[in-house]
Amino acid sequence: MSWISDIARPDIVALKPYEHASWEPPLERLHANELPWRTTGDDTDAGLNRYPEPQPRELVARLAALYGAEPKQVLVGRGSDEAIDLLVRCFCRAGEDAVLVCPPTFGMYSVAARIQGADVVTVPLRAESGFSLDVDEVIRQCTPRVKLVFLCSPNNPTGNLLNEEDVLRIAARVEGRALVVVDEAYVEFAGVPSLIRHVKDLPQLAVMRTLSKAHGLAGARCGTLMANPEIIALLRKVIPPYAITQLTVETVLRLLEPPQLAIMNARIRQIQSERARLADALRTLPDVKRVWPSDANFVLVEFADAERALKAARGANLLIRDVRAQAGINRSVRISIGTPEQNDRLLEALR
Ligand SMILES: *Cc1c(COP(=O)(O)O)cnc(C)c1O
Repeated sequence: MSWISDIARPDIVALKPYEHASWEPPLERLHANELPWRTTGDDTDAGLNRYPEPQPRELVARLAALYGAEPKQVLVGRGSDEAIDLLVRCFCRAGEDAVLVCPPTFGMYSVAARIQGADVVTVPLRAESGFSLDVDEVIRQCTPRVKLVFLCSPNNPTGNLLNEEDVLRIAARVEGRALVVVDEAYVEFAGVPSLIRHVKDLPQLAVMRTLSKAHGLAGARCGTLMANPEIIALLRKVIPPYAITQLTVETVLRLLEPPQLAIMNARIRQIQSERARLADALRTLPDVKRVWPSDANFVLVEFADAERALKAARGANLLIRDVRAQAGINRSVRISIGTPEQNDRLLEALR
């Protein structure tokens, strides 16, 4: 057994997974207690009376091709949220192990850890240098009980990409002891290559991608974890057998065709130009203290009076995100880039 099973929870390594009804499409199914008829109005290809295929092969293959990975390196889940949860559940023993996070960052990493009963070690990003990683401190804090290091790039809510060499330096130092999980939910907006290309050579590196942001499919709940096949096999034991609904499978396959991908690329460019326009305009407002540079589809903005900004946005029928509770950004709000009209309306309200 490799070091991956050594650092995973022993009970999960030993777990005999649930044996779901076998998937043999040429045969008629009298083995899963499904109804043999569709309900009226069910116009799906496969029929919603049938359980969906666990880890649907066609969807896995399509996502692997989209992201440049091998199908055996891929786990599809209900959004990245599910991948985060599965990683924590498979690698962290309650009351013993820990995850490491670098705040201010996405809240799900520590919430998933707490639900599992794992501890959370924090090494803040360095605001004074553009929210970059404190590499030496991360390495110092990676004691043996830290099993997962969650890094978010571009980071939510600060918007910046993490330096790739910093991430790879951390990965090199935790080899054999922990996994470095890089959340690339917003990488399409950054215009840089994904770290997925390093997953093959670095079994301690896992990368999460999602269809929720650049692809405009947040409602479909479809996230992809790419990692060493041994990690994927472990997580497949724990994910509920029919996690991905047939509705999602068919919709996602239909909406990941070349025409939709071309439109997505055009929209990314539009978001990037609106991001620049909105940031420039915000910087001219007297109440705005700082607009942090962003590689994502949102900007983090520090206001003299954040409360007033939140109220003004509401007054224009727009919700922006209050992130003041997060350490180090207690006068800031996060603004998602909207349509040109929405961005104009927001600027008008803040003026
Ligand atoms: C939005 C977001 C995700 C996406 O989560 P899904 O469950 O895939 O919708 C993941 N990570 C970060 C940091 C996000 O902001």
